[in-house]
Formats: sequence, structure tokens, C-alpha cells
Amino acid sequence: MIIRMKDFATKDEIQKVVNYLKSKNLEIKDVSSDKVTIFGVIGDTTQVDYHGLYAFSGVGQVTRVMTPFKKASRAFHEADTVIEFPNGLKIGGDNFVVMAGPCSVENEEQLRIIAHEVKASGSNFLRGGAYKPRTSPYSYQGMGVEGLKLLRKVADEENMLVVSEMMSADALDEFEAYVDLIQIGARNMQNYDLLKALGKSTKPILLKRGLSATIEEWLMAAEYIMAYGNERVILCERGIRTFETYTRNTLDISSVLSVKELSHLPVIVDPSHAAGKWQMIDKLSLASLAVGADGIIVEVHHDPEHAMSDGAQSLKPKKFDEMMDHIRTAAPVFGKKIV
Ligand code: PEP
Ligand code: MN
Repeated sequence: MIIRMKDFATKDEIQKVVNYLKSKNLEIKDVSSDKVTIFGVIGDTTQVDYHGLYAFSGVGQVTRVMTPFKKASRAFHEADTVIEFPNGLKIGGDNFVVMAGPCSVENEEQLRIIAHEVKASGSNFLRGGAYKPRTSPYSYQGMGVEGLKLLRKVADEENMLVVSEMMSADALDEFEAYVDLIQIGARNMQNYDLLKALGKSTKPILLKRGLSATIEEWLMAAEYIMAYGNERVILCERGIRTFETYTRNTLDISSVLSVKELSHLPVIVDPSHAAGKWQMIDKLSLASLAVGADGIIVEVHHDPEHAMSDGAQSLKPKKFDEMMDHIRTAAPVFGKKIV
């Protein structure tokens, strides 16, 4: 951290800032000239709220040098993190994972049809929401724990892994029992009590980017889970809120590159919630592969016209199969293998 005092800061004001930083066990390196007072602050600055330093009169500008996230940062862990599941499937490195399934688990027959189709096309991860974060309280809210049990049953029949969204820490035991990868939805990315609870989970976490979250806020959310004890975090770009309304959200494709620079954690893309239109999913998935994403999570429904949620963005199995062919063709060009 570098602090530049205002030109007319008094000796007393400067001393107060110095004393405060020293009380936090930080070392001060004075690099002032005759005209300006500037000092570098060395040590563990995570204890200091850098915006809070502006509360000291005389402080002109505070510049952070290090990122506020540590465990999630590539500066502290240079190699890509690869997350391994009990069946040997790996996410990260040169692997490209494809997770697919309905937005919501609706019933056993629906789930079985979709799981069978996506597995046959090459997806080894079954997605499906049992607890749904709906904008309207009158919309379908999901099957709850019965939905998780169905996911487990059908995924086991198809030899697939399960990813599903958890909305409340109260449900952690259910998720530990039935799910392989716990999804935290965009709306809960900054639910810090939930993030702390996930620190105690034995399962990897799929952390979606918040609706309007900056990349730093997203990585700080990952840092929470990691700081509380669970370092197995996979990030998921799912589009952000912008002024544009033609698509449901705006897929921030460059966020994959930003995150790869800043962090060692794997990052996948959800083109379904980004675009909100099934017609765009194939091309956005290929774009995700091209920018170096570690995979995609895609909504698929055999009868999207009658889906309980997100039918407009759900691929029919045949379209999903065609997309998988395109991904299979393109993956080697980008040094990835499909898992
Ligand atoms: C979902 O995956 O079904 C979902 C609700 O996603 P998001 O949290 O990205 O909106
Ligand atoms: Mn959905």
C-alpha cells in the first residue's frame, strides 16, 4: 500500500497515520521528497481497511499494491488449481468439463430423459435446481430435498456427478449427502454467512458471479469460502447486468481471461443464464472454450416449451448433441480435452 499525504498535511496529521499503521504491526518506508509526503506500507495489510484511511485528515491518496484476496490469488499459488472428484474426473488444467441438465428438477421422468440424453452426448455432470431462487414468489420454487434425491438417483444410474444450487446453510447436510458440487447462485454470491458455512463443506463449490459483481468482489467471495476452510472453489461466469436488454444478461467473456490472470482457480461459463436464448448457446460455448474456460454449464430440456423454468434458454437434446460435436472438434485447437 502506498499513501500520499495532502500537500498541506500537518506533522501531527502525518504522525497520526504513521502511529495507526505501526499499531497494526506494519512497517513504514518513507519515500517523501521536499514537496510531497509519501510512504510505502509493508506487511500484512489485510488488517487495514484502506478506504477507512481516508477518515484520517491529511490523507490524500491511498493506492493498493497487493490484491485484497490472498488464497484465491495467483500471486500466492502460481499453478492452476485442478479439482478432483471421487470418480477421478478433474476440473482445471487442460480439462474441459460440460455440465448439463434442466434448470429445475420437475419430476423423475423429466430428469431421467434429460440425463440419459446429455450423458449420451458426452456430459458427465448432471445439473438441476431443487431449490430455485426465483424473482417472483409465485414462480415454481423447486422440489426441495426430494429433487436432490432424484438427482442423486438418476445421476447414479447414468454414472454422472451432480451439481445443484444451495440457497441456505440449513440445507448443508442434505447437499453433503446427495450432491457432488455445490452451486452458489448469482443472487447469493455475497451472502457471507452462506459462504462461511461452505468453508466447512467437504464438497467443492461452484461460485457463480453476482448479477452486478466486479471481478474483485467475485474473487473476494471465493476468498471467504477459502479463508473459512474450503479451498476447492470453481468460479462461474454467468453474465452480468448491463444497459443491454436484448439478451438476459451480458456475457462478460473477457472475465475468464481476467480471472485466469488474477487467480489459480478454475473458471467455467454458463452461457444459458448469460444469453437467455437457446439460439446463442452453441456459439457462446465455443467462445468460452476459445478464451480458456475450464468448462461450461448448460441448460437442456426435452420439452422446453413446457419447462417449469428457463425454457427459452434451454437446448433440446439434439441441439445439445450438435453443440458437443462442435466442442469436440474445437477443443484440441485450444489444448483442451473434454471430461
Ligand atoms: C441456475 O443455474 O439455474 C441459476 C439460477 O443461475 P444464476 O444463479 O446464475 O442465475
Ligand atoms: Mn435456470
